[in-house]
Amino acid sequence: MLKRIMIVALALTFVFGAQIAIAGLLEDIQARGELIAGVKDAVVPFGFVDEATNDIVGFDIDICRYIADKLGVELRLEPVTSATRIPMLEQGSVDILAATMTHKFERDEQIDFSITYFMDGQKLLVAADSGITSVADLAGQKVGTSKGSTSEQNIAEAQPDCIVVSFEGYPEAFLALKQGKVVAVTTDSTILLGLKNSDENPENWAIVGEFISDEPYGLGVPENESDFRDFVNLCLAEMWKSGDYMTIYNKWFGEDTAYYLPLEWEMEIWP
Ligand code: GLU
Repeated sequence: MLKRIMIVALALTFVFGAQIAIAGLLEDIQARGELIAGVKDAVVPFGFVDEATNDIVGFDIDICRYIADKLGVELRLEPVTSATRIPMLEQGSVDILAATMTHKFERDEQIDFSITYFMDGQKLLVAADSGITSVADLAGQKVGTSKGSTSEQNIAEAQPDCIVVSFEGYPEAFLALKQGKVVAVTTDSTILLGLKNSDENPENWAIVGEFISDEPYGLGVPENESDFRDFVNLCLAEMWKSGDYMTIYNKWFGEDTAYYLPLEWEMEIWP
């Protein structure tokens, strides 16, 4: 009898254990009723604090809100930096990253990515009267950027003779530029446009040089959560096909905004 009970108990453990293993992040989010998104909170216009409401707003936030709405859950925002975002996703502190993050094969070793949902490239932000026009002018000079970004790697490759100074985030790097501690800030061009046009005197600053990299942004999702990643990709594809993507894109990067970036790429859509 005892033996039989033990066998039944073992079988039950196996069945329920297997069920727990099968239930993935998608089900967890639905059960919790909340999608926790890691977003930037000081990167205009991707994720920043709206001073009137104290809410974090921006392009990345609108993308996450669309996904949360499709899931039928609330959206919770957790601020991340370029350096903290991947560890936070790995630890399970957030479900998804919408944080100006370029999809790199190198990063694929730690997390998974959605299809590309935004495309940019890296440039330089300098004082308008600096005389700097390209990376060639940065030899022997200090250049500010953010810790944990592709920007710090790309600039070191594009100009091995410059001194890369990495800050917590881009506003700190811009402050260093204003204080004369660095001669340029480098990162994705739209982030630079956000810094320049959020300044009281945008005309004092210039975005210069050729693109020194391609920066296709992907949403970060945890490794091996394919149901969740499929869902996220489906949301992006639906957003693109329905025109909702363009509405969000134009709200932040359209011609009438201070962050105009012509859309010159197409989302990967399959039938
Ligand atoms: N897109 C680049 C990256 O993923 C630079 C912007 C950022 O630091 O988030 O590293």
